[in-house]
Amino acid sequence: MAIPVMKPLLGEEEAQAVAEAVRSGWVAQGPRVAAFEQAFAARVGAEHGIAVSNCTTALHLCLHLLGVQPGDDVVVPSLSFIATANAVRYCGANPVFADIDPLTGNLTAATVAAAITPDTKAVLLVHQGGVPADVDAIRVVAGDIPVVEDAACAAGSTLYGKSVGTGALLAAWSFHPRKLLTTGEGGMITTDDAEWAKRLRRLREHGMSMSAADRHAAGGAVVESYVETAFNYRMTDIQAAMGLVQLGRLDGIVEQRRALAARYHELLAPLGLRAVADPAYATTNYQSFWVALPEGAPPLVDVLSSLAQDGISARRGIMAAHLEPAYDGHPHAALPGTEELARRSLILPLHHEITDADQEHIVASLARALTLVAS
Ligand SMILES: *Cc1c(COP(=O)(O)O)cnc(C)c1O
Repeated sequence: MAIPVMKPLLGEEEAQAVAEAVRSGWVAQGPRVAAFEQAFAARVGAEHGIAVSNCTTALHLCLHLLGVQPGDDVVVPSLSFIATANAVRYCGANPVFADIDPLTGNLTAATVAAAITPDTKAVLLVHQGGVPADVDAIRVVAGDIPVVEDAACAAGSTLYGKSVGTGALLAAWSFHPRKLLTTGEGGMITTDDAEWAKRLRRLREHGMSMSAADRHAAGGAVVESYVETAFNYRMTDIQAAMGLVQLGRLDGIVEQRRALAARYHELLAPLGLRAVADPAYATTNYQSFWVALPEGAPPLVDVLSSLAQDGISARRGIMAAHLEPAYDGHPHAALPGTEELARRSLILPLHHEITDADQEHIVASLARALTLVAS
């Protein structure tokens, strides 16, 4: 494919940092993970960072920490990568799908309020495709119910003038190559709560009373104990070495993505196509640049294959979990906003190697596929 939909920005610096981690002899969770946790938490405005193996395990740990268990309901959007809903099922709990606003792709206070039941143990909102959800408004309707933020896509996005993550009860982040920052695979939980941070560190490491790194540092004879049944969700020092370099690139990546998105907006406007944009209260990092296809457009697969013939790798828009076989028969309320966006949105290529000429080619190809002419 001539133009991929996403391409991670990786340089010689990452290769060097990874090589240094390997040469150090400490490759599992160690000093580089600790340094990455501190740097990442500081960047997003949180007190504590707990690195984990990916964002899916981060979400699972957040819900486990909150005591989510069989018999509990957790409000989630169906319009999300399927890991969001699956994390609820990992706890044996019931995902209750709430609808989204098709303008932002996010849950709203009204859709969350409509989905809360007497058994709701948590609300798991998503900053979909990097567009921040209106967390404060959702917290008001959630009341005492904890609100967890799936910030997998949202590194570098801002909410109410501050980084997403600032003031979050618990936020879960992803470092998969499809996101802005990557460690190959990787994830992080951020929180301001010191007790939670301590428990999360234990939960990611088999429930051990002290980490392997601490035991090593203590020297002498230290015997750990296993205080609860937990998980192995650790990140490696090899990944963290890469993460530290990647973090230094974040501001530049966001700036470039926003400039490319502005150019897409200019090119799409004459065609009358609506694309993802900043909500009034936030700025997106444009992790996913989606376009809503107009009423009466050809089926999404036809548009995708037409783009593919022009050497453009676009993707269907954000998926809806309730439309997947894994959620066949799972009860849910009507989700009109979700279904509209899932069926009619398309993600265009956006990454550091995209040129002005690429963007013109992509939009022209899309216009042909939709048989649209600029007005
Ligand atoms: C990518 C993504 C995840 C999963 O992240 P991994 O690090 O791949 O586990 C979860 N939620 C959302 C919204 C995502 O986009």
